[in-house]
Amino acid sequence: MEPYTLTLCEARKLLDQGDITAVRLAESVLGRIRAVEHRIKSFITLRDEAAVMALAEEADRRRGKGKGGALCGLPIAVKDVLCTTTMRTTCGSKMLEHFLPPYDATVIEKLDAAGAVLVGKLAMDEFAMGSTSENCAFGVPENPWRPGYITGGSSGGSAACVAAGESLATLGSDTGGSIRQPASLCGVVGMKPTYGRVSRYGLVAFASSLDQVGPLTRDVSDCALMMNVISGHDPRDSTSADAPVPDYTSMLQDGLRGVRVGVPAEYFGDGLDPEVEQVVRAGITMLADAGARIVEVSLPYTPYCVAAYYLIAPAEASSNLARYDGVRYGFRDTQAGSLLDMYRRSRSAGFGDEVKRRILIGTYALSAGYYDAYYKKASQVRTLLRDDFARVFRDCDLIASPVTPAPAWKIGDKADDPLAVYLSDILTISANLAGIPGMSVPAGFSGDGLPIGIQLQGAHFREDILLRAAWNLEQRAGVRGILPGVVEQ
Ligand code: GLN
Repeated sequence: MEPYTLTLCEARKLLDQGDITAVRLAESVLGRIRAVEHRIKSFITLRDEAAVMALAEEADRRRGKGKGGALCGLPIAVKDVLCTTTMRTTCGSKMLEHFLPPYDATVIEKLDAAGAVLVGKLAMDEFAMGSTSENCAFGVPENPWRPGYITGGSSGGSAACVAAGESLATLGSDTGGSIRQPASLCGVVGMKPTYGRVSRYGLVAFASSLDQVGPLTRDVSDCALMMNVISGHDPRDSTSADAPVPDYTSMLQDGLRGVRVGVPAEYFGDGLDPEVEQVVRAGITMLADAGARIVEVSLPYTPYCVAAYYLIAPAEASSNLARYDGVRYGFRDTQAGSLLDMYRRSRSAGFGDEVKRRILIGTYALSAGYYDAYYKKASQVRTLLRDDFARVFRDCDLIASPVTPAPAWKIGDKADDPLAVYLSDILTISANLAGIPGMSVPAGFSGDGLPIGIQLQGAHFREDILLRAAWNLEQRAGVRGILPGVVEQ
């Protein structure tokens, strides 16, 4: 078996036993990248091979001395939204094409401290705005299950990279579904943690009250392991929670007896692809077979989440993106004749269409005459959505539903219809507005072989129960860690 096909936990065991070396693992992953990257295009920046091999050698040395953290010698890649001092951080935007951050994100420091071998930075929708990864300024990643089809977004590169065997695990970010959607469409596990569980320090801001970093992995045990590494309080992020972090790997194998799984009717409404519904309902039956009790619940404000999100997220984005003015860092137009002209020309050329659309919506929604009608109203709806969840989590321990209304579609098919793409976020956005954790777990395939995930959502800081349910589901669904047969060329 080629080492790049291993899960993190499997590779770690082999490393511990001395049956493989970090150098061999890195060689295998780099070889796989060379073989398939031209088809998948999951990376924006690949680390220099010599640097990767030096890290792997260092990991072997540390392991030889009986040292080394939880990820020592394991090849990992991250979405290009996380600041790294060793590689440029573009955020998928021409605006930051040559930006080399002066500091590392906290999660990058944590990966480094755990001994991970960072192999590169992954493709994404520009500034994480999108649901397909087609808004990336440096090429569109393709679904390893069917090149030519979308990976989902905005962490499309992160999902494709894991699914294609180009690294053993990745990090993404999720503002309205951007970890869970591509995880579902590419057949990998993805978790958006509770808001505040993972530090946002060094995560380039899109919508600060919604953004959260999380892992994409080949199986649930790997997701738990990554959560152990990246979670925890960070004094440099004032919104990070000062709450103890449980050992997420320790309770995975507890059964589901006594666990109540809520199924909200509103997540199975019009527009849901029948094959997706079938796979998700079969997954819910598997949770029942594992001992869970299924209860019907209602989240009546669900239909309003897209409208609320597409005011709140652009409003925050319009403020966050004001910093890209061509003065301090990022793209600058050098032909401008005046300061105002330089701002205008730099931002016109540096940002892509979707980012400009969001800035326009956001500044409009925040403007004096419209603030009450749009931003304030959306914030009120957000409170109602959060209350919806709080009420439902009195009757159940987690919620099971689809992640996306349909499996992956062909690249370009909806590129001219932003509204249709926004509407495909309806099942994932509420979790961000409410700040609760959510994850996508592979549950099956469509008739023509495209992956379909099931979404699990829980109360604040109950990632543990999501992981436990996901692990039990994974045992039964029979699709754990399956990698697509990407043709090497
Ligand atoms: N699809 C949503 C958007 O375009 C969410 C993106 C995200 O989670 N980063 O805003």
